[in-house]
Amino acid sequence: MKAFNIENLVRKNILELQPYVSFRDVSKFENPVFLDANESPFGELNRYPDSTQKKLKEKLSVLKNISSDQIAVGNGSDELIDLIIKVFCEPKKDSILMMNPSFAMYGFYASVNDNQVLQLKLNENFEISKDDFLNISEEQNPKVFFLCSPNNPTGNLVEDIEFYIQNFKGIVVVDEAYIEFSGKQSSISLLEKYSDLIVLQTFSKAWGMAGARVGAAYSSKEIIALINTVKAPYNVNSLSLNKIIELIDQKDIIEENIKNTLKEISWLSNELQRVKCVQKVYPSDANFFLTEFKDVEKIYELLLANEILTSKRSPKIPGCLRINVGNREENIQLIELLKSIE
Ligand code: PMP
Repeated sequence: MKAFNIENLVRKNILELQPYVSFRDVSKFENPVFLDANESPFGELNRYPDSTQKKLKEKLSVLKNISSDQIAVGNGSDELIDLIIKVFCEPKKDSILMMNPSFAMYGFYASVNDNQVLQLKLNENFEISKDDFLNISEEQNPKVFFLCSPNNPTGNLVEDIEFYIQNFKGIVVVDEAYIEFSGKQSSISLLEKYSDLIVLQTFSKAWGMAGARVGAAYSSKEIIALINTVKAPYNVNSLSLNKIIELIDQKDIIEENIKNTLKEISWLSNELQRVKCVQKVYPSDANFFLTEFKDVEKIYELLLANEILTSKRSPKIPGCLRINVGNREENIQLIELLKSIE
């Protein structure tokens, strides 16, 4: 067990903060008359959602084999990234550490909170240099390290995650937005060993629920209590909560969708590699490929002109577009167009 004293890491004002508690959500009544929240007695969605997200947490608790009080639910994992920074990073004083290239929102929320963003430049295979990590951690003492695995936009997994947890003085966040596509075990299993670890997952990708905006954080009870303290009381709406609860009960459908997506991933990877204007398709454990082109500007514009949207990563990652896997029809449209270019 790594020694962990949360009081040294959390912002003082957050430690002292009393969470907003909705009385009705923490009490039991048979059939109450609700005159406590200034709601309307009319309409379908007239009541506030459960601020504790109890039912969803119970489902996730079974699904992930973890206690309900080790789960926080957010308005997408985006919100949870923001909340984690707010809990641990003193504005104008503390910094976060992230991989470069990686998911931009870590840096975005840190900047909104006036925290410095330190970056670990990945090597040509998009791996972290452990020496760089040790040096920057020692010299600058960042509070939160965001590890994205599989990493967006590069698609590869982070190897040896425990090394980073063991050698970091602050909080390590493993963002597993794409984990379902990788077939690899989640770092949730490491939570028994490390109480300063946070694992983020989302319903936006493999679960196909980006429009519902629901994500989850898994961590120690202490960290989850702090995230719940700073969240807006009704951060996830009742339509989304109910939809996700329903979906967890029909998990077989999702598993089937993932299987089909994996088939498409393999099909698209093969096809892309056979297209002449493609220089390299980086291996991916996610539902997208970082793809290098001979003339990326031209290709990007041509795709746009044909209303095929991709994510331009050039010039930061020279020559590259990030292309995600669609359905077979969409993938064929992409490949046919790319093949038409000499
Ligand atoms: N993490 C990563 C790595 C992502 O790519 C994304 C979405 N692009 C998110 C988190 C945010 O997901 P959401 O807010 O939809 O849960």
